[in-house]
Amino acid sequence: MFLDELKWINESGLYRQMKYLQSPQQPYVKIAGKSYLMLSSNSYLGLCNDQRLKQAAMDTMEKYGVGSGGSRLTTGSYEVHKKLEDEIAAFKGAEAALLFNTGYMANIGAISSIAGKDWVIFSDRFNHASIIDGCRLSGAEIIIYKHCDASDLETKAHSHRGRRALVVTDGLFSVDGDIAPLPEIIQVAKKYNMLLMVDDAHATGVLGKNGGGTADYFGLQNEIDIQMGTFSKALASEGGFIAGNRGLIDYLANKARSFIFSTALAPATVAVSLRALEIVQAEPRLRQSLIANSAWFREKLREIGFEIMDFPTPIISVVLGQPELTVNFSNRLMGKNIFVSAIRPPTVPQGTSRLRINLMATHTVDDLAPAIDSMAAIGKELGILNDTRN
Ligand SMILES: *Cc1c(COP(=O)(O)O)cnc(C)c1O
Repeated sequence: MFLDELKWINESGLYRQMKYLQSPQQPYVKIAGKSYLMLSSNSYLGLCNDQRLKQAAMDTMEKYGVGSGGSRLTTGSYEVHKKLEDEIAAFKGAEAALLFNTGYMANIGAISSIAGKDWVIFSDRFNHASIIDGCRLSGAEIIIYKHCDASDLETKAHSHRGRRALVVTDGLFSVDGDIAPLPEIIQVAKKYNMLLMVDDAHATGVLGKNGGGTADYFGLQNEIDIQMGTFSKALASEGGFIAGNRGLIDYLANKARSFIFSTALAPATVAVSLRALEIVQAEPRLRQSLIANSAWFREKLREIGFEIMDFPTPIISVVLGQPELTVNFSNRLMGKNIFVSAIRPPTVPQGTSRLRINLMATHTVDDLAPAIDSMAAIGKELGILNDTRN
């Protein structure tokens, strides 16, 4: 039975294969002995091989060893866990925060604890899989509203008014690289007395004056009831978190099964997140350089003829349509030593397979310019771009 399903996956161009890195995650990576320009990393600030972060891990390992030895509520809580919770709460402008082992676990644990069977959850059509899974696990009624559409949310909220309700949205969407219209969503949530949760996995350390994320970008950090994020992307570490008021955080620590029944993050990992959080706040030039790289790359892609949506974010989607074409493009880029992920269903809707380019703060124009040339050449080879040479 597995083989039949795999055969179908393969024939549909949806088979996924892992590539094994032999170097740190940085602008150039090594795979099977060859060097590739990395254009699909979530390590937005280029900190995965930062000496200060490695030192933080080593110092903490010397002090506390490697494994944490237990779950947070039994024997696995260290002072660094508490310190990181305090720091991330302050960073997010919240009273308190709770660490989870991953962002995925933060979403499933928090959503399923907050919303019960008698609740209704309003969820953006393009929300991340971990939000969808959290919604399903809660047993609540799930209402999908149109992507980034606060007026559709309002219509749907109106027809369910009077129910206990949670609105949940990604802050920065990894599908198109667009930003949720938080000012409008907050208004609707207030009007209908609904809790609001924002998943800022991609925006934490990236968007906003202080790198605080989507709410910081809009200057609305006090308006979000439940702020979720991860240390695994811009912060170059691991672990998820929920920030909110003290009552919520205390409740989650006692209720969220993905928090309670899992071994705590290793102290060294937590120390890396702490140090990364300091760097994010002390060095705004990192995210400035990231955003500048992204603007430059978008502009160049447009110049060579791709249709590119315009957002002030480091996620650039080149929508090609069919999965086979997208994989073919990505493979040809690999052939030119450029690593760009092909994103296909079920991650994105049918007919919208795309190349997803995530830039890093540490890429230079010298790194990026050859990638534009290669994309132009492959685009013409595959008949996606007009060959304007006469
Ligand atoms: C990556 C991601 C997560 C999961 O975070 P991990 O720490 O990788 O488990 C959750 N939500 C969104 C929107 C993400 O992009």
